Amino acid sequence: MSSFHLIIGGRPVTTPSAFNVINPVDESVVAACPEATVALVDSAVTSARQAFPGWSVLPDAERVAKLNAIATLIEKHHQDLAELVTREQGKTQSGPGANLEVGGAVGWTRATASLQLQEETIQDDKTGLILLTRKPVGVVASITPWNWPLLIAVWHIMPALRVGCTVVVKPSPFTPLSTLRLVELMNQVLPPGVINVVTGGPEIGSHLSNHPGIDKLVFTGSIPTGRKVMQSAAQTLKRLTLELGGNDAGIILPDTRIEPLLEKLFWGCFINAGQTCAALKRLYVHEDQYESIVARFAEYCAQIPMGDGLDPKNLIGPVSNRMQLEKVSGYVDDARARGARIVTGGERPRGPGFFYPLTVVADATDDMKLVKEEQFGPAIPILKYRTVDEALQRANALEVGLGGSVWGNDPQEAAKVARRLECGTAWVNQHGMPHPMAPFGGVKCSGIGVEFGVDGLKEYTTVQVLNIAL
Ligand code: NAD
Repeated sequence: MSSFHLIIGGRPVTTPSAFNVINPVDESVVAACPEATVALVDSAVTSARQAFPGWSVLPDAERVAKLNAIATLIEKHHQDLAELVTREQGKTQSGPGANLEVGGAVGWTRATASLQLQEETIQDDKTGLILLTRKPVGVVASITPWNWPLLIAVWHIMPALRVGCTVVVKPSPFTPLSTLRLVELMNQVLPPGVINVVTGGPEIGSHLSNHPGIDKLVFTGSIPTGRKVMQSAAQTLKRLTLELGGNDAGIILPDTRIEPLLEKLFWGCFINAGQTCAALKRLYVHEDQYESIVARFAEYCAQIPMGDGLDPKNLIGPVSNRMQLEKVSGYVDDARARGARIVTGGERPRGPGFFYPLTVVADATDDMKLVKEEQFGPAIPILKYRTVDEALQRANALEVGLGGSVWGNDPQEAAKVARRLECGTAWVNQHGMPHPMAPFGGVKCSGIGVEFGVDGLKEYTTVQVLNIAL
């Protein structure tokens, strides 16, 4: 068992207490994680503030070189990081799991390094010159969830560093270890204090989001916590990016040939055992095809191997923690009690670990918790519709709008319907495929602001207009 430290001001820091990180496969202890105190959070913010003046004035090319060096280091430690993600989070090594997460961390770091924020000319004539410039916002606090711990930390940290901000990151207490390792690696490349990591739960998160030494918060997590973070940010008018929960709808258009789409539909719903912000969480199927699609999809799900993510034969792992397991099984039980049909899955296996089978719930209705709320786990409700307009109206009825998808034989026809979804990203014949150059974010209660691409970089800057009389 290797040891883990906070990193503050470039140095490993020991803490007065620690908490255990639990492996969801068998509930064994992965490692003891050091627990930050509020005084250590203060110290991390001070370090980031001290590092900011030097880091923010570095020539851009130097920051690009550092980001590329970090990508190479992550790549070098790929296997260790991927195994750590599997142990602390549960996702598999095979399929779109831990290896995808570490590969994505490398890819996103390189993509972020390749971006350019150009100065813009607003006016340039004999009366004057007006330029729009962008400056780093300052010290950024990043607060991350437990579902894609390493990748989401990278999504927060790399654009902040790229534009010249310094960072304090706080991972979820369920999955802090891969972030501690990431920050340790990054400190082999970066000057002290540019990236710092603290750990802990709501108290530490709240101290960070209230902290007057933080200029911007980037938060990925649930809507209720997002609301609290926004309230804390109001005290000092911190800039905010909020990437919050979703309840993505997928609509299969009438007469769709389902067989060629099954694999993508499956991963759209069940990547990371459904614990993905932009996973497909409600599936609308036309009444004429309803029974055949339900039966074929359930059959497809039932043959997918589930088990210990370190065993290469498995494609789906356990639910990541007990809290989430109980939430998902409670939603399925509620749907069953209200008359839904459990076509496959639906029973918790005996034995240790937080396993829940891939569960297909037919005859689901809009009033069921499994449909109205975000299940964030391996259970998919399938709903029947009569007209596409009706399916769209029901898909758009919720307060969230992260992603959505439309599935059909003709991608162009499906795209016309997809444009009418109220969500930040609308996919056609796929679901939940982010791209490092395409802005990603939610509408309505699913968030504020975007990540990725040049638009994502801008979120870590403030605008300065330079207005010169000639
Ligand atoms: P969560 O809101 O419970 O926790 C997220 C983080 O906030 C954790 O680090 C937690 O310790 C911290 N936190 C808790 N209370 C806090 C407080 N009062 N102040 C500041 N920080 C606090 O979310 P979770 O259960 O870890 O993650 C699952 C949720 O995240 C789901 O709703 C999912 O949809 C969402 N999510 C969204 C995206 C996206 O990009 N939109 C991506 C991944 C996950």
